[in-house]
Amino acid sequence: MLDKYNRVINYFRVSVTDRCNLRCRYCMPEEGKPKLEHRDILKLETIEKIARVAVGLGIEKIRVTGGEPLVRKGVVGLIRNLAALKKEGLRELTMTTNGTLLSAYAEDLRRAGLDRVNISLDSLREENFRAITRRGSLPRLMEGVRAAREAGLSPVKINVVLIGGVNDDEIEDFVGLTTHQGIEVRFIELMPLGEASDWEANHFISNSEVLRRVPRLIPLPAQSGGMVARMYKLPGGRGSVGLISPLSSHFCAECNRIRLTPDGKLKSCLHSAEELDFRDYGEERVEEFLRGGILNKPLRHLIREENFVPVTRKMHEIGG
Ligand code: SAM
Ligand code: SF4
Repeated sequence: MLDKYNRVINYFRVSVTDRCNLRCRYCMPEEGKPKLEHRDILKLETIEKIARVAVGLGIEKIRVTGGEPLVRKGVVGLIRNLAALKKEGLRELTMTTNGTLLSAYAEDLRRAGLDRVNISLDSLREENFRAITRRGSLPRLMEGVRAAREAGLSPVKINVVLIGGVNDDEIEDFVGLTTHQGIEVRFIELMPLGEASDWEANHFISNSEVLRRVPRLIPLPAQSGGMVARMYKLPGGRGSVGLISPLSSHFCAECNRIRLTPDGKLKSCLHSAEELDFRDYGEERVEEFLRGGILNKPLRHLIREENFVPVTRKMHEIGG
């Protein structure tokens, strides 16, 4: 379906929970937060219904996210039911996960019909990894990366949020991962949202820093179809490096996505407080709900502009 600026909206990010087993400093407060009440969280059957209607409206790619999607009970069954939408026009079904539970789930997810995973990994040094996630275990996560590759959830993409003074000294090491492994390492600029809305200014690093530190990266031809990453490769490298720069070079003109939060809010822009509430529509008016969100999609975000109001909802509540 087209939005009112003639952008094709074909990518749906569906967050299935606001809960998480980690506490990344830029995403979630240390003490966690009062979790959404069970009754406020969309049932898996409702999510499936919304997804089916969305595919009918032209959604071709669904990404399941959270919070941590693998802590939601029944997530493998959800993937199986979403994968069945491939008969109705869905082309790709993916997940963003922190990877900590992947060694247990990768095989089942693949069998259920998941195509691939993006795994968030902000440090390759155990101590730093713990400091960022406050409770993660790097060996466990690496085990998850291995399990995902073995299960064929590939190409595995590693998401690295660049944080000045925290992990920018690891840029070369992350790029180095693509020398021998067929993975894609994606550097993502820190966005001023939720927990990060205050400290983004002090910790922000533009993705151009990656090219400054690793000048031998070779640009790859731009891909069509709403790809927001600019792609690079090391000479002779097996994998690739993606730069996702929502701030330093925003991709609003090509933005093809809408988002569903775990409590049923439809967000057509991550950086806008505007949202539609599924409860105002209900199961009978799913199409109207989705059409309304798509048609209201703003032209662009206003970050770093005078009128910008940071979104107070935290990233784990929205779904990254
Ligand atoms: N728990 C899963 C994970 O960490 O992959 C999925 C949800 S998480 C909110 C999705 C992605 O959003 C992660 O890659 C995370 O690093 C990213 N993220 C969270 N807050 C962010 C921020 N302020 N700026 C940029 N990326 C952010
Ligand atoms: Fe959890 Fe992902 Fe947020 Fe980290 S980024 S706290 S893993 S939801």
